[in-house]
Amino acid sequence: MAIEPVLVVGSVGLDKIHVPDGTFDSVVGGSATFASVAAGQFAPVRLVGIVGQDFPDSAVHTLLQRGVDLTGLEVAAGKTFHWEGRYSDDLSSRESLVTDLNTFADFHPRIPDRFTETPYVMLGNIAPELQLEVLDQVRSPKLVVADTMNFWIDIALADLKRVLARTDILVLNEEEARMLSGQHNVVKAAKDLQAMGPQRVVVKQGEYGALLFDGDDVFSAPALPLGDVKDPTGAGDSFAGGLIGFLASRDRIDPEALRQAVVFGSVMASYCVEAVGPEHLAQVNEAMVSERYGAFRSLVDFHRD
Ligand code: AMP
Repeated sequence: MAIEPVLVVGSVGLDKIHVPDGTFDSVVGGSATFASVAAGQFAPVRLVGIVGQDFPDSAVHTLLQRGVDLTGLEVAAGKTFHWEGRYSDDLSSRESLVTDLNTFADFHPRIPDRFTETPYVMLGNIAPELQLEVLDQVRSPKLVVADTMNFWIDIALADLKRVLARTDILVLNEEEARMLSGQHNVVKAAKDLQAMGPQRVVVKQGEYGALLFDGDDVFSAPALPLGDVKDPTGAGDSFAGGLIGFLASRDRIDPEALRQAVVFGSVMASYCVEAVGPEHLAQVNEAMVSERYGAFRSLVDFHRD
């Protein structure tokens, strides 16, 4: 069984996060950061993104220690992408307060030559125009997974639809699925999204888990009921990273592997939300993954003969 590498493209940022426990400033974040750290648990990762000169060495160290190849991480003059968000008291919703693109504003992803044939491609949440630029540079990937968010659905819908036409698995949350499809019912929304290109759509439902629509098949995975949730930032990216990392590690994209990948994505998301920033997630190891995978199994096990 060959473990295939994963190319991750997305934002690498410094966040300011307001959660019930307090306000945390200059926290390392970004869609590519969380997705890479999660995928790195399962497969070699090649990250493509951009940061400014203010990006801390300690974060570079965390990524390198996770085995993430940073050849494609550009360091440019100026400041790193910055996002600020405030969560509701029950952590179930959030408001974006600030999105400063900074070095991202003039960014055009350049996939290093030796990475253009990477078989597993994760288009993390960034401008759809940049996701298209990535797709124009990679050569016949086996699997393209794309993530997006309301911000881009609002301002870049036409480009996003072009991305969808070239995507195999779309990962988005329930509210975004409704926004993008114009359908309130999640089943109808998923069907409409599948008709836009991706054969598989994963609808994340936050603390309630995720639904995988694979052709006509539907799979539901719960989220683990956790006693201590600190910060949901990056949960979606960790989910997507865990999902594609697992598929790459098995080099399989069949229905059974997809169902398992949704659970491994949920495992990584469950570790992500237990702390602020990606360091805790970066400490996850095989034993921790197995333990939580087992917890998922017993959570849904009700059939006794
Ligand atoms: P998630 O909680 O999985 O949706 O991802 C949160 C991460 O996405 C944060 O660490 C932010 O830095 C990053 N982020 C927020 N807004 C954007 C945006 N418009 N484009 C790219 N990344 C973003």
